[in-house]
Amino acid sequence: TASMATADQHLVDGVLARRRRALAKAITLVESTRNDHQRRARQVLTALLPHTGRTIRVGISGAPGAGKSTFIESLGLYLIDAGKRVAVLAVDPSSSVSGGSILGDKTRMELLCQRDEAFIRPSPSSGSLGGVADKTREAMLLCEAGGFDVIIVETVGVGQSETTVAGMVDAFVLLQLPSQGDDLQAIKKGIVEIADLIVFNKADIDERAAAAARSQMRAALTMLRSASPNWRPPVLTCSALGKRGIVEFWAEIERYQRLMSESGEFEQKRRRQAVDWMWSLIDSGLRRYFRSHPKVRAALPDLLSDVAEGRTTPGAAASRLLTQMKE
Ligand code: GDP
Repeated sequence: TASMATADQHLVDGVLARRRRALAKAITLVESTRNDHQRRARQVLTALLPHTGRTIRVGISGAPGAGKSTFIESLGLYLIDAGKRVAVLAVDPSSSVSGGSILGDKTRMELLCQRDEAFIRPSPSSGSLGGVADKTREAMLLCEAGGFDVIIVETVGVGQSETTVAGMVDAFVLLQLPSQGDDLQAIKKGIVEIADLIVFNKADIDERAAAAARSQMRAALTMLRSASPNWRPPVLTCSALGKRGIVEFWAEIERYQRLMSESGEFEQKRRRQAVDWMWSLIDSGLRRYFRSHPKVRAALPDLLSDVAEGRTTPGAAASRLLTQMKE
């Protein structure tokens, strides 16, 4: 674009030329909270947008120790052997608290991170889950423009992060352990309902336990309603460490992509995700705007204590503050 600085044009060209330094720099720009960086990041993303989207986006979630990094490494190496380029991103809302992310840590995928065809990026450490998710979505677009065919988004099985990741990928995978109770937890938390695929890992430890867990989960799934009329989430077993079940897993992902594309749901889902993302950015933007508005800031402290002490209703206070913002 005409208004873009030469340095940023270089960045755009570098990403398109598949230079990983440029990709890493572009992601750093996107992750920055500085206003001028944010403005430049928007321009870079806009320039790259036409080159995004020709990928499959796969979310992988599971409790710590389920074998996510082992699974992603085995899968990534298999995909690279099949001629694909693989980017691994992570959504870890706790990284802003702990200061470091366990997800997407390169030392966890030692073989994969040595490959030129792989790009591994740890979770951004940006305050809220929403912030982390926004940055990851943008990093995903950058990786797509950088020529990666498969985008894997890893998340740990805690609360909201799974729903958030399911909302930014084409296929959401739940990695489970065959141990008793693990599947029940997932059903209770409502995670099973958002999974497009369920995989029981570490089947090498106890084949029978894995098979039993699989049939139990299959039975449980028949009682839940499917998110799509064209897809019943399959339940598989695998050994990420022994590299067994990886081929079958990817065949299911490809079958999913084919069926969903044929029915038009694939594109529909991506369109819906893009629009939902816009609304969530508007919501958080409005909230920021509201909180920084001078009249709101002036009226807020009194109204907060009025509400807390029962002198006014939350409804009346909210209405007064929102009116202030419009003035
Ligand atoms: P994450 O926390 O979900 O990323 O789990 P990791 O990939 O770090 O795996 C946790 C532990 O389980 C590691 O010691 C792995 O070597 C081991 N592990 C992962 N997959 C398998 C598997 O298929 N079979 C066996 N026996 N161990 C596994």
